[in-house]
Amino acid sequence: MGFFSKDIKSLDDLFIHMLREIYYAEEQIERTLPKMIGEATDPQLKAGFEKHLEQTRGHIDRVEQVFELHGVKAKAINCPAIDGILEEADEVSGDVGDKEVLDAALIASAQAVEHYEITRYGTLIAWARQLGRSDCANVLAKNLKEEQATDRKLTEIAENRINLLAA
Ligand code: FE
Repeated sequence: MGFFSKDIKSLDDLFIHMLREIYYAEEQIERTLPKMIGEATDPQLKAGFEKHLEQTRGHIDRVEQVFELHGVKAKAINCPAIDGILEEADEVSGDVGDKEVLDAALIASAQAVEHYEITRYGTLIAWARQLGRSDCANVLAKNLKEEQATDRKLTEIAENRINLLAA
């Protein structure tokens, strides 16, 4: 279904559509993180990815909760945006030989993922509030908070150490 498909007639339809996309995205991220954990050399980065894998499982559970609160079946639909980000991440890491540079590349990829999620959750929260669903907004806000914290942590690891080692 395209973004401007005629099947989307209301903000409520659009909300569900985007919820299905972020559901797909979270599942793809859960599938990709183990590979990134395997590739990371820096122990703090590895541990950060491990923690985020655990959090991602919680994000999937929360998105399922929102489907339930909203009274629709949990269903994922393809999201080409996250596929592109993850594909590019895979290509770049395959091209990097040096370990420290690979860590820097992994952080860059992970932050692209986090920023994608941050924009999606921000929109979903605003729409949920507009639709009078503060219950859904509150659950989604927990995911947003963890994505933001992860993004900040990645910046910290990059700026304190990885970028220096990679340079
Ligand atoms: Fe997430």
